[in-house]
Amino acid sequence: MNSTAKFIILLGPPGAGKGTQAKILHQRFGMVHVASGDLFRENIAKQTPLGVLAKSFMDKGELVPDDVTVRMVMERIAKPDCARGVVFDGFPRTDAQAQALDAALARENKKIGAVLWVNVRDQELVARLSARWICSLDGAVYNLITNPPRVAGKCDLDDSSLVQRDDDKPAAVQRRLQVFNNQTKPLLEYYRAAGLVHEIQGEQPIDRVQADIVRVAEKL
Ligand code: AMP
Repeated sequence: MNSTAKFIILLGPPGAGKGTQAKILHQRFGMVHVASGDLFRENIAKQTPLGVLAKSFMDKGELVPDDVTVRMVMERIAKPDCARGVVFDGFPRTDAQAQALDAALARENKKIGAVLWVNVRDQELVARLSARWICSLDGAVYNLITNPPRVAGKCDLDDSSLVQRDDDKPAAVQRRLQVFNNQTKPLLEYYRAAGLVHEIQGEQPIDRVQADIVRVAEKL
């Protein structure tokens, strides 16, 4: 085991920018970006049984059951590259997931170094999520406010039409925020009790958010 490996959780609502921040941590510190939502979407693209099951929950904005989610993430972090450290994005989302993660890391003599609570108000999240559109062909992500395509509704790279993720449609967005507030936000108390939480103001300009996150990670 690499004793300097960092294990960081990005805890924040959907639309807080966790994916973007995770990429910075990967570039700066070599941590592997483990995003449960991306793992599910890979399974959906490959039409695996896990993907079919996950999609039925994801399209409605509901959480995928803990047992399958935990198994999928544990399989990912057991791979050798994760010994360098991991930035968790979108996992854990429930108490059971948090406990399963702690137990799995403890078995390897590892532990979470920090939980970064990326704080963004609900009204801002709704605006951000409904502005996210992706290319139907290559998955390139646009934001109608901060990063619009050159031609409305078309991908800059291949001219394919832009679509909304099913779970970025208005009813699913509302449900995802509700689920976050009810099931995931309470994890803050779990991690506060362990002295691990660092609050990051997620509505600052992106470079300021990044600087705050890097500052915490550097001290670990
Ligand atoms: P995300 O890309 O993180 O916003 O996740 C998209 C969707 O995948 C969520 O709305 C859930 O349906 C599902 N999902 C992702 N991560 C988890 C998780 N840790 N537990 C349960 N469901 C998850």
